[in-house]
Amino acid sequence: MKTLSATCLCGSIRIEIPDEFEYMGYCHCSECRKFSGSDSASVGGLDSSKVKIKTGNENITYYHKTEETDLAFCSICGSSLFTRKKRGGKHNIRLGILNDTPTQKPSFHIFTGSKAKWENICDSLPQLEEKPSNK
Ligand SMILES: [Zn+2]
Ligand SMILES: [Zn+2]
Repeated sequence: MKTLSATCLCGSIRIEIPDEFEYMGYCHCSECRKFSGSDSASVGGLDSSKVKIKTGNENITYYHKTEETDLAFCSICGSSLFTRKKRGGKHNIRLGILNDTPTQKPSFHIFTGSKAKWENICDSLPQLEEKPSNK
């Protein structure tokens, strides 16, 4: 199994993830938009136990968005890193922090009902207006 490396912009945080995402897609919700500063956020999900923080753990700040969801970012450079789903036991990794190319590619769009008004989705991947029940 290939291991993927991921780092924040300043490089203080280094994360290793096995190349075995369970799902991968684009989220267009208003919260990802605010948090990432981008129209949409590409994320890949896998079990939290598989995510290894190799360096810079002390620089990770968690914004407690809800009971279920923590948003992680680098305290030094501000890069958004991942979403931690506490009950679900999953990490949704922001694909933009990856240094290596995963085998899987994003295969869906979610929350397209709340996408930015200026955003055009130009591919033919399936679009869900809201959230799938199993994610
Ligand atoms: Zn950083
Ligand atoms: Zn989102």
